[in-house]
Amino acid sequence: MAERKPDGYLEGRPLHPESLMMSYGYKPELSEGAIKCPIFQTSTFVFRTAEEGKAFFELAYGLRRRGPNEPMGLIYSRLNNPDLEVLEDRLTLWDEAEAAAVFASGMAAISTTLLTFVRPGDVVLHSEPVYGGTDFFLKHILPEFGVRVIGFRAGTPPTEVETRLQQMGLADKLAFILIETPANPTNALVDIAAYAALAARLSREDRRVLTAVDNTFLGPLWQQPLRHGADLVLYSATKYIGGHSDLIAGVCLGRRELLDHIKVFRTILGTMAGPHTGWLLLRSLETLKLRMTAQMKSAGHVAKFLAEHPKVAHVHYLGHLATDDPEYAIYQRQCSAAGGMISFELHGGEAEAFRMLNALRLFHLAVSLGGTESLAEHPASMTHADVDPEERIELGISPAMVRISIGVEHPEDLIADLAQALERV
Ligand SMILES: *Cc1c(COP(=O)(O)O)cnc(C)c1O
Repeated sequence: MAERKPDGYLEGRPLHPESLMMSYGYKPELSEGAIKCPIFQTSTFVFRTAEEGKAFFELAYGLRRRGPNEPMGLIYSRLNNPDLEVLEDRLTLWDEAEAAAVFASGMAAISTTLLTFVRPGDVVLHSEPVYGGTDFFLKHILPEFGVRVIGFRAGTPPTEVETRLQQMGLADKLAFILIETPANPTNALVDIAAYAALAARLSREDRRVLTAVDNTFLGPLWQQPLRHGADLVLYSATKYIGGHSDLIAGVCLGRRELLDHIKVFRTILGTMAGPHTGWLLLRSLETLKLRMTAQMKSAGHVAKFLAEHPKVAHVHYLGHLATDDPEYAIYQRQCSAAGGMISFELHGGEAEAFRMLNALRLFHLAVSLGGTESLAEHPASMTHADVDPEERIELGISPAMVRISIGVEHPEDLIADLAQALERV
């Protein structure tokens, strides 16, 4: 049958990702002509012949190299499934990646990726603060496997981190750099290109230091880490990519050679997402740009309102960075918009923050972010309750801080809700 659907190009011109989110990687003729990719709710797939089954397994277990146009045959849903494969193809478009892997959660993506590339005796460098689950994995689980984990504050120049590693005699043990930028909940930025350059300086021919970026806060619309030298991009797809607060999933993207390796670990650890989650994410991707654009624009209005409010002491919002702030240059280089996450401090402490949170009517009081509904939470006692109190203050997470995730409601309504809640403080 003739290929009618675009393969990513129209008359030789590449189509934009949002134009491909309804069609790319899916062939209706393989599914009774269904315009939408059905849910392939199946655990196993029938081989046409024993020879075909043998060929599929040779590829799945890396017993021989894949031919140039040889597809990965369908075997068993822990290895691959059409919903995940179509989704992975579509996800590569936003980050301009060669390959993608979808996982059962953001934490499954992060832990499986680190377990793929890190071995006992290795050193892992990571920015701070990082997401609580990532922080726990780095500080409590990896050390049990003999991995040295060293954190650096977002904003630290890589040369300073390099000197510290050399003084500790660990520079030749570095295997992996994990960056989360912007950092949660302060929106502090880490210079991706500068840390990728550090990874390159400390790489040897037989041991390449990999750089991975958790791009959950701004990606895939407003930041593409692979363009700035990162090797891998990680997501909690639970947040903006899923976008409706109704699923848990994760993604890793990068070069095919790295993703093939990660997928072997995903297959054996069993950390892949199920077909229903894959199907929900395919639906979510169709509106990803619309949602993230509306959220980004509303956040600008909300941040302006907060910055001008007398009861608000300080607003952490990427759109308000001063031009002489060292973070401003990083923002200009690696981000294309400020996104939909804002945190701010009230005058006062926890009591004032709680009074405001309890008075909100349209914003829901819940952790997580990136969904269609706006959310508000208290980092010091909720998402970052586990961080050492002294460290929490050093990181700028004060008891008076409130973090909000802007949804797709009308910004006037969001501002009205914040105004009436601030009134009660
Ligand atoms: C939520 C989140 C994670 C963890 O993702 P899950 O889908 O909850 O496992 C990792 N990193 C960041 C930045 C997050 O916000």
